[in-house]
Amino acid sequence: MAKREIDDRFKKFGTVSFTSISKVNDFVDSLEQGKVMATRCPDCNISYFPPRVDCQNCLGSNNEWFDTTEKEGTLATFSKMKYGPVGFEDDLPYTIAVLDFGDFKMFGRIDNNVPDDSIKIGMKMRVHVNDLQADQKNFVFKPA
Ligand SMILES: [Zn+2]
Repeated sequence: MAKREIDDRFKKFGTVSFTSISKVNDFVDSLEQGKVMATRCPDCNISYFPPRVDCQNCLGSNNEWFDTTEKEGTLATFSKMKYGPVGFEDDLPYTIAVLDFGDFKMFGRIDNNVPDDSIKIGMKMRVHVNDLQADQKNFVFKPA
């Protein structure tokens, strides 16, 4: 009886997936070190946030990590949330915003301690790692 070959094509998918997951885990490790990481393709000079493993321009995998907490962004837009999606009800009210760093943009929240009347489009802001309950982390924007 001839041995059946094992159909292992799926491992190619798994390998790619695990690589991808591992790089996402690097993002979480960096949060624990106070860094909010993005990636940049050195060949195309395109930056990605949320971080991308592969460059969507050249399809290469040379993307390098960099720390966005060292940079200053400009507040492009913001909105005060009085109703939130399921799971965020206890956080209300909170302010979502987009920071423009020039070569990339970042979507997130403005720190709750920033007074509403001090928030102005065009103001300079920085991203900071924020500690949540139960060892969870996210990031928030604060005035630069
Ligand atoms: Zn590229």
